[in-house]
Amino acid sequence: MNLVFLGPPGAGKGTMATRVSEHFKIPHISTGDIFRANIKGQTELGKKVKAILDAGDLVPDELTVELVKDRLSKDDAAAGFILDGFPRTIPQADALAGFSTVDQALNFVLPDEEVIKRLSGRRVHPGSGRTYHVLFSPPRTEGKDDVTGEDLVIRPDDQEDAIRNRLEVYKKQTQPLIAYYSERGLLVDVDSAPAPDEVFAQVLKILS
Ligand code: AMP
Repeated sequence: MNLVFLGPPGAGKGTMATRVSEHFKIPHISTGDIFRANIKGQTELGKKVKAILDAGDLVPDELTVELVKDRLSKDDAAAGFILDGFPRTIPQADALAGFSTVDQALNFVLPDEEVIKRLSGRRVHPGSGRTYHVLFSPPRTEGKDDVTGEDLVIRPDDQEDAIRNRLEVYKKQTQPLIAYYSERGLLVDVDSAPAPDEVFAQVLKILS
């Protein structure tokens, strides 16, 4: 089962991909997570992409495509995978079609106001990557990680300017993929507004 998860930032693609990955035992491949891990590890790739991620812009297609092509060639992706955050442009989708197939593209739909509310309330514990939300899943003590008590931070790309830019980039570059996969008969919409359990129930219904 080769899946692509589409949708604006903050629509919950990552959360759903984690659940689907556990349920169907297929790897969750998030290009954003791969870039962030490289930035944290201060690798060459990380140094190259840090400023791009912080601003909410897109990493160049060639670089991103190579990364995904390499990841999909690993044994664990042979029986299926979930691509979360890739493709994000038409050239990336064309490249993907050249080295793999896509069985279904799930389009997580969420209105702009909700996207902004979700992203601006997100807080992260830098050491572990644990995420919280000031409204939807607050830490026990405001601004502190539940496990270590250390400070929580706002991701640079969750700052207001970057959020606005990410939404704009999504509309210009990524939204055309909805028509792309729809024309190929692969697109299914998922309403991302309800609570995670309800969204996951929709996803399972589509995939089973
Ligand atoms: P995400 O966690 O999916 O929101 O991705 C975080 C950031 O990583 C994005 O704002 C981009 O800067 C970069 N990124 C992730 N996936 C891609 C992609 N497929 N193409 C280009 N840049 C990407």
